[in-house]
Amino acid sequence: MKNIIIFGAPGSGKGTYSDDIVARYDMGHISTGDVLRSEIKNGTELGKIAQGYIDNGQLIPDELMIDILAKTYDALPAGKGVIFDGFPRTITQAEALKKMLADRKHDMGVMLELIVDEETLLARLLNRAKEQGRADDNEETIKKRFEVYHKQTAPLSKWFEQEGIRNAFTWKGSKETMLGEIFAFLDTQK
Ligand code: ATP
Ligand code: MG
Repeated sequence: MKNIIIFGAPGSGKGTYSDDIVARYDMGHISTGDVLRSEIKNGTELGKIAQGYIDNGQLIPDELMIDILAKTYDALPAGKGVIFDGFPRTITQAEALKKMLADRKHDMGVMLELIVDEETLLARLLNRAKEQGRADDNEETIKKRFEVYHKQTAPLSKWFEQEGIRNAFTWKGSKETMLGEIFAFLDTQK
């Protein structure tokens, strides 16, 4: 499978659908949120820096994120497509991803945008707070993450449109339906 960028608001299901996509098409998976949470858990220098931003619902600075992304990408086995989950989140990151892949003679592949209404997003994140206890899944931090998403990340939708690789999928109340639409599209892309 070619590379896939999965894009959407906090709680839109990026991680969930990524796992299903990885299982069906046998790909690599980079979740920048998971990379950061593992650094925090291991008490690394990077983890210490990241924690302050995550707890406040803010983005980690671009230079740092771009560096982490390139290292993580280069550590994956070559030859399989990779699904980028949680990256890029700013125009600067998107330009850097495009360049990083071009430097390696790879391309961005396709972008999947998950469109979910905010009421559903909030309910999911509050439910996840109960089930997984993620420190940034509390109502105050969730509100900040939504604001950051609208200001810094959502404008990227247009950027991908201009790159000619944006494909939108809208939540209609059922995971099976959403996943069915995503798989039907990806089956035409291999
Ligand atoms: P979900 O995983 O449910 O879609 P989310 O998008 O809010 O929710 P993660 O992708 O796990 O969650 O990211 C958690 C936090 O990690 C972000 O709020 C941000 O602080 C930091 N983070 C993750 N990826 C990036 C990135 N590409 N650039 C800057 N910060 C990031
Ligand atoms: Mg996630």
